[in-house]
Amino acid sequence: MARRMLIAGNWKMNGLRQDLGFLDEIADLAYSRADLDISISPPATLLNQAVKMAGAVKIGAQDCHIRRSGAHTGDISADMIKDAGADLVIVGHSERRDDHGETCEQVRAKAEAAQAAGLLPVICVGELEADRREGRAESVVGQQIATSCPASGDYVIAYEPVWAIGTGLTASLDDIGGMHAFIRASLRKGETIRILYGGSVKPNNAEEILALDDVDGALIGGASLKVADFAAIITAAPIRIARSR
Ligand code: PEP
Repeated sequence: MARRMLIAGNWKMNGLRQDLGFLDEIADLAYSRADLDISISPPATLLNQAVKMAGAVKIGAQDCHIRRSGAHTGDISADMIKDAGADLVIVGHSERRDDHGETCEQVRAKAEAAQAAGLLPVICVGELEADRREGRAESVVGQQIATSCPASGDYVIAYEPVWAIGTGLTASLDDIGGMHAFIRASLRKGETIRILYGGSVKPNNAEEILALDDVDGALIGGASLKVADFAAIITAAPIRIARSR
């Protein structure tokens, strides 16, 4: 079975109901690229409406709580996200690890909660600029993978070097290829797990990044807010046919 590419947009804390017209255009594109998975993670306020407009586009949340319900003011559970009709949830984004002090153990519990609710967790990992400069990018990411990922079941990893997120800087193709190969080798069922790259993916660099062997798609922040840019990135994704999954 081929490992399907996933082109995933993350709107972060952006988007009002009036912005959901975006989905009409992307839904059209999604029908013409049935070889790919395409997703948008809008803010939680828009999940339900987005699901109604999504067509073949998958809808995701940007975080979930580790518990199914309870006294956790302001949080939403994976069951609630599933109930809203969504398909996936991003967990462990570096902005959440940073803004909310989320640990790898919490990220893993969130990923397991997502799996239990029938959602696909997209687990973010990535090194700081100093980690790369000082030669420990692989050990940091290896540790994050070992402690953030569930022991079984399906999930997606998004490798996002923190210094490349929202900065306009991207890792070199060699660094991306090397890290993705390292991540795949460190996973127990590495051939079946999709590994996305994230960090300033734009229309002008998407084609060369997505052409790399171990890159199975992209997690996209800024460029997923502009329909022309997001559509151009989808169009840049290669058609994969003969890969083992
Ligand atoms: C992200 O938020 O996951 C991300 C990769 O953002 P950007 O594409 O803006 O760097």
